[in-house]
Amino acid sequence: MADFFTAGWRLDPSRPKDSQGQERRQAVEHALARLSHADDLWVLGNAFKATVSVEDIGNILSCTTARCHLLRGEIDPVTPAHLDLWKTVDLASEVVVDGQLVVMSHYPMMSWWGAAGAPLEEQVSGGKSRKISMHVFGEGRGGFRGWWRAVSVDWSAQGGAFLSIDQVRRQSEDNLFATPWLEAYYPDRRRYRYCELCSGAIDCGRKDGGYHWDGDRLVTFRGALVLTRISPFPDRGMSGLATATGDICTECLGVALQYFDLQEGVHYRLAPAVTLQVIDRSEVHRVSLEGRA
Ligand SMILES: [Zn+2]
Repeated sequence: MADFFTAGWRLDPSRPKDSQGQERRQAVEHALARLSHADDLWVLGNAFKATVSVEDIGNILSCTTARCHLLRGEIDPVTPAHLDLWKTVDLASEVVVDGQLVVMSHYPMMSWWGAAGAPLEEQVSGGKSRKISMHVFGEGRGGFRGWWRAVSVDWSAQGGAFLSIDQVRRQSEDNLFATPWLEAYYPDRRRYRYCELCSGAIDCGRKDGGYHWDGDRLVTFRGALVLTRISPFPDRGMSGLATATGDICTECLGVALQYFDLQEGVHYRLAPAVTLQVIDRSEVHRVSLEGRA
């Protein structure tokens, strides 16, 4: 017995010439057929276009013996006969899966029950497990996969698959950044920050995402090594690079390395494959990934 999450199939069987739509229908039907009668499938909206008949939806849902629940999105047909096809229908709902509270809706929430609270701890064999509430939502326009602990389960954004709770947890870790509302509780998960030197905005979700000191190592937002300090930096004209405790933007780092009194081999050593051009393009994370591969 397991719970799975999905959304956004956007099926319309009345348009047989829409080959993409037909392929998606087949893929959804295959995924449905793999569920068992003891499973619950939570469909977080926009499963079918508003004009789809009761018969067509009934045929597709009959591919599975699992219990199918609908959390309504903006296009789901909502006549009583359509709604009768589902085990349950709601705008928002919650379920406890594997000891973890999961709050569900079609539209993403900025905050939800337990989102900002202390983690629930439970004893499991071999140690303590920390489980905190999770939010899953259906909206996935443009491939958006959500935030940390608020995961989009949109069919296309998730590569055409239903997500298990373990996959939701993994996607949550990959998403990394908290919802804007929760950034106040989790400042380390703030996506947009300011450069300590020029006050310019840094988007930590793009390119290198800014730089910071880790002892004598200057690293990107996600920890890729840019350079190592090998002797004290001269104070003159450094605009605080040597002593910055916060984030540093690409422009400020580039200017400091190219126009101030710093010399490679004397004051710092660049990481393998990192050059001033790579720093200018904010692509240290990329060359360092290639270096490890
Ligand atoms: Zn700056």
